[in-house]
Amino acid sequence: MSNLEQTLSIIKPDAVERDLSDQIKNEFKKNGFNILKEKKVKLDKVDAEKFYQVHQSKPFFNDLCEYLSSGTIIVMILEKENAVLENRRIMGATDPQKAEDGTLRKKFGISIDKNSVHGSDSIENAKIEIDFFFKD
Ligand code: UDP
Ligand code: MG
Repeated sequence: MSNLEQTLSIIKPDAVERDLSDQIKNEFKKNGFNILKEKKVKLDKVDAEKFYQVHQSKPFFNDLCEYLSSGTIIVMILEKENAVLENRRIMGATDPQKAEDGTLRKKFGISIDKNSVHGSDSIENAKIEIDFFFKD
């Protein structure tokens, strides 16, 4: 049965700065994702805090929001069967050192904070995150 889903992907500042966005987009296309919408965004700190509010009690919250608002990012709506899980699989573990070979974070990530990509972790959060960037 068809299970076409949409998820939100972000190419984070470390990857945009290193000119990796075309390579990352190609990885998504190669893996059967359709990029329905994309745009370049520069968040301010308050926007980043809103986006990452689920992490507000974590010790890394402030650094995370500083980082996400530190440079240009590329946000994309990706569509594929089981897109949420498929994107998480292709991204790899949060810590690039623990990510499996061939994953985006293994290939491109620098550290647990500069790990090159974000992906929604559930269908519900995908809807919230897509609205956050594309509702207008
Ligand atoms: N993060 C961090 N330190 C940690 C855990 C997470 O800097 O100990 C950052 C990391 O960039 C991660 C983001 O916070 O991508 C959100 O954390 P989450 O646990 O949601 O990981 P993800 O869903 O991105 O794999
Ligand atoms: Mg997460």
